[in-house]
Amino acid sequence: MANFRFTALEHTLDRPVVKVNYPSAKVSDYFGSMAFNQATMREYLTDEAYKVVMSAIHKGIRIDRKIIDQIASAMKAWALSKGATHYTHWFHPLTGATAEKHDAFIMPEPNGRAIEEFQGSALTQQEPDASSFPSGGIRNTFEARGYTAWDPTSPAFIMDNTLCIPTIFVSYTGESLDYKTPLLKSLTALDNNAKEVCRYFDKKVGKVFATLGWEQEYFLVDDALFAARPDLVLTGKTVFGHSSAKDQQLSDHYFGTIHERALAFIKDLEIEAHKLGIPLKTRHNEVAPSQFECAPVYEEINVAVDHNQLLMHLLDKIARHHHFKVLLHEKPYAGINGSGKHNNWSLATDTGINLLSPGRTAKDNFRFIAIMANILKGVHDYEELLRASIASEGNDLRLGANEAPPAIISVFIGEQISKTMDTIEKMPSRKSLGNNNSGGSLDIPKIPEILLDNTDRNRTSPFAFTGNKFEFRAVGSTANTAKPMFVLNTIIAEQLGKFKIDVEKEIAKGLKKEDAIFNVIRKYIKESKNIRFEGNSYSSEWEKEAARRGLSNNRTTPDAIKAFLQKKSIDLFAKHGVLNQVELKARYEIKLENYTKKIQIQSRVMGDLAVNHILPTAIQYQNRLIDNARGLKEVLDSKTFVKLSRNQLNTIKEISDHVSNIKEYVAEMVEARRLANKIMDIEKKAEAYKNNVLPFFEQIRHHVDKLELLVDDEIWPLPKYRELLFLK
Ligand code: ADP
Ligand code: MG
Repeated sequence: MANFRFTALEHTLDRPVVKVNYPSAKVSDYFGSMAFNQATMREYLTDEAYKVVMSAIHKGIRIDRKIIDQIASAMKAWALSKGATHYTHWFHPLTGATAEKHDAFIMPEPNGRAIEEFQGSALTQQEPDASSFPSGGIRNTFEARGYTAWDPTSPAFIMDNTLCIPTIFVSYTGESLDYKTPLLKSLTALDNNAKEVCRYFDKKVGKVFATLGWEQEYFLVDDALFAARPDLVLTGKTVFGHSSAKDQQLSDHYFGTIHERALAFIKDLEIEAHKLGIPLKTRHNEVAPSQFECAPVYEEINVAVDHNQLLMHLLDKIARHHHFKVLLHEKPYAGINGSGKHNNWSLATDTGINLLSPGRTAKDNFRFIAIMANILKGVHDYEELLRASIASEGNDLRLGANEAPPAIISVFIGEQISKTMDTIEKMPSRKSLGNNNSGGSLDIPKIPEILLDNTDRNRTSPFAFTGNKFEFRAVGSTANTAKPMFVLNTIIAEQLGKFKIDVEKEIAKGLKKEDAIFNVIRKYIKESKNIRFEGNSYSSEWEKEAARRGLSNNRTTPDAIKAFLQKKSIDLFAKHGVLNQVELKARYEIKLENYTKKIQIQSRVMGDLAVNHILPTAIQYQNRLIDNARGLKEVLDSKTFVKLSRNQLNTIKEISDHVSNIKEYVAEMVEARRLANKIMDIEKKAEAYKNNVLPFFEQIRHHVDKLELLVDDEIWPLPKYRELLFLK
């Protein structure tokens, strides 16, 4: 029987480093060359059309028909000049991936020739038959139509000779079926509420928007080894595999020299990303062997989210050219670090201010503290919802596994700001510190400059302030970041709206504006104290302490996502026009079904691998040992035989023990699955998978991994961790 593991290993041994085809120009010459960005628009559009698009981007003003035709024709001219033959609406359905259906520009003419055509109507709207996308029961099968509509705030781009137009995706009846629609709506809510608050401090603020700089972690694995692991192929993770004698213990991979095969891949990735205008900036080895991270310079959040989706696609695509597979799963290997996607998030104004930058003047400082207190209060009040926003089967394995923040949401703000907050909390009134404190006339304690240099870090916190932004570190590596981001934006929009109401109430009592703001900030600091945690979030003490504080600790997806259905959440999203109850319920159901299906697939893969790959191998080896023992018995006198064969007979027994355990557990798991599959109610079904099927995974794995250590290496069918994790 051919052993695919060895064939695969042979392949990896003579892999040449794929040569990178550097463009002859410098990066700045080709950066954004494949994106219909503002510079390109300036070049291709009339002054009038350009102004209209800019006001659509910056002020959300609708573009009229006539101009749309002009834009489409300019886009077509640009795309054809870049060799595009097709166009597509590019959107983010609730599968978590991106979707596209290509149409050719070509249009036949009666004379037998053809012309390239792209009209305004093709740019603005399409009607893909969307019946196979998840809708959570929103669309009935008799009404399978969905609409995609152009999002002018994110630049169109060309990939594989196809002009891709970022769009939203909604049902015939108007419900959103994607991640972009609620994100855009949350940004409107955020802008409406935040700018009002900003105007307390600066009347000139006309718009507030969110910024995002994501950090994407991933693993690389040789594609031949990948192909020899059915679990990686079907689930994106290894369901079996004994730990390698050496993996990340020595921390020698983190920030190490990048392996030349990996570096060639990364360079290629960067070239393609830069052409598309994705501003990739950093690349480095992560903690686990073969784990890497890349991060761009931050951008306006909608563009950043699109760029992250695009980057995940590029990772997969470029990896093929280098004989790699990219593993984006949150936990592809047991026992070593998994992958996350850190979301660095902040708020900015059209006056060029980062609202999370501690100010240098007393006034800026006051504004900074006000925003900070609001974020603390918002996260405090909606911590469970924020946890729900990052829930997935993969992330369940990561959160709380001593490598990633726990399933408990808390906020780290650092020693200096904590001190400031504590001081404010104890101040009876704004004036009580006297006029000579360093905060100046506003009497807010000043934040020392030291903070600005980013030294105060807590890498165990799920939501950490890092000098001029928050880093939401608990997001999973596969996530469409729009989801945690629209939830966060909406929470902060709501909070800032409440702030304005609270301040106005104080003003109505006759207080001066600054005193009113101060009083509300102080109240928020008090009320949100429980969410602040500066210690080690990975520790078991924190888990106990968090429970005492009443913070939620929802470890699994089915538990966590229940928060979406709480009245408080339904009201929140409805009030801000982000998602209505039907949409929210649909998303909940899709997530739940996705969870169930993922566990189901893993369970099937495990059963198949255990029964059809592992057990036959173990029995084959055991038979060899039995034959050998028989032979020994023939040639040795019985006393020597008893003495010398003891260990060997023990191994035979051990193998039998594992084999029989595996058989039993697999049979029980299959039965549990059969029972779970009969359940029609999706909540109960997910519970059954979580409580009755999932627990077998660890049991079965335990025995398979033990067998891996007992059985002859030569016949073991699956590439081992030491082979998967280290590039040759
Ligand atoms: P670290 O690994 O130390 O957290 P990185 O350099 O990997 O830092 O990532 C920091 C990310 O934060 C980058 O994408 C950076 O552009 C982003 N960032 C910096 N300032 C802001 C901001 N105001 N808003 C959003 N993201 C920001
Ligand atoms: Mg970071």
